Amino acid sequence: MFSAEFQREGLVRDGELVVGKEFSNVKSFRSRIDEAEGFSGVWEIVKDTVKASLGEQRLGMLLFLDDLPLHLGAYHPLGTNNIVLNRSLVNIVEAVTKSRRLVNAFVYSLLTHEYLHALGHISEAEVRSLVYDVSRACFGDDHIVTTLAEKSPWVLIKGIPLSTIAAPKQAMEIVKDFEKPNQGYIV
Ligand SMILES: [Zn+2]
Repeated sequence: MFSAEFQREGLVRDGELVVGKEFSNVKSFRSRIDEAEGFSGVWEIVKDTVKASLGEQRLGMLLFLDDLPLHLGAYHPLGTNNIVLNRSLVNIVEAVTKSRRLVNAFVYSLLTHEYLHALGHISEAEVRSLVYDVSRACFGDDHIVTTLAEKSPWVLIKGIPLSTIAAPKQAMEIVKDFEKPNQGYIV
């Protein structure tokens, strides 16, 4: 529903207004996203920030990489534990930005979006709004992660003529050790 985009202020979870909440561990999340290594490193931050801001979590997700059309970042097949991330797109962002920090922010934004779908938030408008809320609460207003949530992850490759890029199509692969074993059993 179109108007849902403009009802961000009304998003209430568990009787608590998420909007406007900023955590004291912003500094820690900021340094973690800059230094995270690989998809599993970013994934830990996705789970921790969603848990810290929304109190929601789901364990046992699997990540697959596939070469998808470049306007598509990732998807979560409903009813599965899977997230499929667009390998071609991530490669392009890496080549264009040459920055681990920016690639991490990009991957964070896509994975958080799909994670929220996997947590049962079906509506696109709600998910976009929640990604913004989580980003803002955990990284602050003036951070690239929040900017990507507010605008679009694609702003990082603005001006790149995606339609002219012939990305090679390779087989879908699973990301090994995406989720740390035994994680979740340690309180
Ligand atoms: Zn979506």
